[in-house]
Amino acid sequence: MEEETHRSTTNNPFEIAQHQIDIVAKRMKIDPGIIEIIKQPKRVLEVSVPIRMDNGQLRVFRGYRVQHNDARGPFKGGIRYGPQVNLDEVKALATWMSMKTAVVDIPYGGAKGGIICNPKEMSSAELERLTRRFTSEISSIIGPLRDIPAPDVNTNPQTMAWIMDTYGAVAGIAEPGVVTGKPIALGGSLGRNEATSRGVVICAREAAKVTSTKLEGSSVAVTGYGNVGYNSAWLAADLRMRLVACSDSQGAIYNPDGLDARKVGDFKARTGTVKGYPGARQIPIDKVVELDVDFLFPCALENEITAANAASVSAKIIVEGANGPTTPEADDILFESGTFVVPDILANAGGVTVSYFEWLQNLRREYWTEQEVNAKLEARIVKAFREVYELSKKETVHMRTGAFMLAVGRIASVMQQRGLFP
Ligand code: NDP
Repeated sequence: MEEETHRSTTNNPFEIAQHQIDIVAKRMKIDPGIIEIIKQPKRVLEVSVPIRMDNGQLRVFRGYRVQHNDARGPFKGGIRYGPQVNLDEVKALATWMSMKTAVVDIPYGGAKGGIICNPKEMSSAELERLTRRFTSEISSIIGPLRDIPAPDVNTNPQTMAWIMDTYGAVAGIAEPGVVTGKPIALGGSLGRNEATSRGVVICAREAAKVTSTKLEGSSVAVTGYGNVGYNSAWLAADLRMRLVACSDSQGAIYNPDGLDARKVGDFKARTGTVKGYPGARQIPIDKVVELDVDFLFPCALENEITAANAASVSAKIIVEGANGPTTPEADDILFESGTFVVPDILANAGGVTVSYFEWLQNLRREYWTEQEVNAKLEARIVKAFREVYELSKKETVHMRTGAFMLAVGRIASVMQQRGLFP
């Protein structure tokens, strides 16, 4: 297969997202004006979030909500908290959400939000005040038919419950469909918590089929042991794949004979980190992506695999649980070395797919069984995988370019048919 050369050398995620769109624009006959629209978010809202800390001090945090594109349906995307959050990161994540909802063909656009803060140093009461004040600041642009937030890094079902409650108080309507990833008792969907990881593991299984890799007994390394990483690790173990390494922000552990994914999860729940797990060797965090394994699931943050370390990656198959873990330069290096990469906008689309199911259940006030949710998820991810794989083979490009071609083509086609206002 031949593949286009990516010349971008940036690690700025928004520039990377724009570059990824440029790559497919060159290959597709799409009005350059439409491409120009897709390369920029439709709306960026930056807000001050003042809250009273537990010690009585008043502190002001910065928050963002970026709405990238709503040609195919309401904006949709998570909210993350963290010290590394910045506007370009949120813009990139919003762009990737538009691509992701298009790849799995659900009737949404893309958005993302974030607050610059250090949630690990904040109490639950402070996080509640932060979430509620942020929600009130962005309440005029979110809503069940406008823009529907969900959990992401350092946010969870409790965060979504606070958003739903605050939106209800501010807008005066009790509508569970304003957020997804809620607790079950508040209208959350069964299966949502593990949905992203279920998608990751389904993609791993499909990738194994097309690369003739034996799944049973295959070795897996996982970076990040939060919602996506931990759930992917035990779901892979249920398919008899062998977890050999994992990491979090504090450390990494390795045992070539295998680790018990659930026990590592219990250990982390008790101690706050995977570091120090008995029966495993400590290794440097950045060495996990270089281990000689069959599968690598990057499930932490952006830019885990860059030009600096891509040549040292030995995994046969990479399934991107995280958003943006691989830079375009690294993509080229991996492609040349024959690594099969299932890109983020396909591999982690299980989360937004079940968020869509949750929203449908909320709007209809009816609830599905976990089996129904999982079966519908499986069907969507397998179909999207096949479509991306077939297109990438037909166009002789790697899976990321195939996925972007599918997504940009779907968004552009709707934009063309809708026309331009006024
Ligand atoms: P979590 O906050 O639950 O987990 C993130 C994990 O990454 C934590 O274990 C964290 O460590 C770890 N981490 C942070 N920095 C590093 C580092 N430098 N090296 C290794 N590990 C690190 O977030 P999620 O699991 O929800 O999200 C992970 C990724 O998946 C993100 O890219 C997110 O956008 C993406 N994603 C999430 C979806 C979802 O449904 N949640 C849906 C689609 C994509 P520690 O535990 O020490 O903090």
